[in-house]
Amino acid sequence: MSVTGTHRPDALGRFGQFGGRFVPETVMAALDELEAAMSDAFADPAFHAQRDALGRDFVGRPTPIYHAERLSEVVGGAQIWLKREDLNHTGAHKINNAVGQALIALRLGKRRIVAETGAGQHGVATATVCARFGLDAVVYMGAEDIRRQRPNVVRMGMLGAEVVPVTAGAGTLKDAMNEAIRDWIATVETTHYMIGSAAGPHPYPYLVRELQSLIGTEARAQMLGACRRLPDAVVACVGGGSNAIGLFHAFRDDPCRIVGVEAAGDGADLHAQSLAKGRVSILHGSRSYVLANEDGQVVETHSISAGLDYPGVGPEHAHLLATGRAEYLGESDADALAGFHRLCRLEGIIPALESSHALARAERVAREVGPGGIVLVGLSGRGDKDVDAIAAREGI
Ligand SMILES: *Cc1c(COP(=O)(O)O)cnc(C)c1O
Repeated sequence: MSVTGTHRPDALGRFGQFGGRFVPETVMAALDELEAAMSDAFADPAFHAQRDALGRDFVGRPTPIYHAERLSEVVGGAQIWLKREDLNHTGAHKINNAVGQALIALRLGKRRIVAETGAGQHGVATATVCARFGLDAVVYMGAEDIRRQRPNVVRMGMLGAEVVPVTAGAGTLKDAMNEAIRDWIATVETTHYMIGSAAGPHPYPYLVRELQSLIGTEARAQMLGACRRLPDAVVACVGGGSNAIGLFHAFRDDPCRIVGVEAAGDGADLHAQSLAKGRVSILHGSRSYVLANEDGQVVETHSISAGLDYPGVGPEHAHLLATGRAEYLGESDADALAGFHRLCRLEGIIPALESSHALARAERVAREVGPGGIVLVGLSGRGDKDVDAIAAREGI
């Protein structure tokens, strides 16, 4: 697993005008400490050896790329290839980040971990690595998300984590993150905040990108091996942005389209398109695009997929948008569900609802690119956690 170290944020932790650190003074020192431990770890061959071994034997890496032949045929455009992060232990890309941060927490001597979770995938990944290393895990989760992602709540309990329901606000990811940060501020001496996405104050966006960038590094080499050339486009869904930046990073200097997919929700007023429809503001310690009103008040978001139901986005995506390197488009609940069913029926793969947004957009991009082209999609997770909610919604 290479840590590329290119496209680094500046000394203030900014990607262009985005990112930085907007936190209370007490947390500043903890972030400095984390940044130092991160730099030490990245420069230490023992850290990489430990991470590689866990990636191979515990997580199941490298994940394959897969040519979705029947889906490609039905869509009638470019070949669609999937990077199979759904095959990771615990069912999504979140474990890549959790393993790396657990190793860093151990280096810091911090044995209590707090985390936020939306769909529960990051909570499960956190609970998993904490069980593996004997760390205490406290996971904040919105009450609404607890309702719609029940299987993951049960899993976290079995793994020994304490799940704290958050009833504030809409009871979703933003509210859970507020509570996790509040806990961390009060316990920062003994606690590591294991953030689940490439968001938050510096160094988190950079740290999480580096821990997830093996997705793109692997996929790029695998595509060159299988197709003898690079894809014409890479597509991934964007909640906070970690699976997307992890896939995009390796392709950043290549001549291919980079397409991030946000949740367009009901297709009208209720959505979670921070990049496409937000304004520049500060949320959870960093400057980025935020779904807020003119007074900076965060507005209500909606997505069928809990993991994309977040009014902010990681600062590096804001920078990729502002510089024109990446495009960010929306897919509605209905179109994501249609994409979900097509992958089930045509490929025998049940995707996460988050990933289904990327699949729906990849079909459109494949038509735009046309026959002879190649589109690579980040299949960020599997859909086990979503089957009950979808069955209830569709009366199955
Ligand atoms: C959490 C999650 C996401 C969204 O988070 P990012 O940080 O944007 O990647 C997407 N897909 C799955 C399967 C998830 O669990």
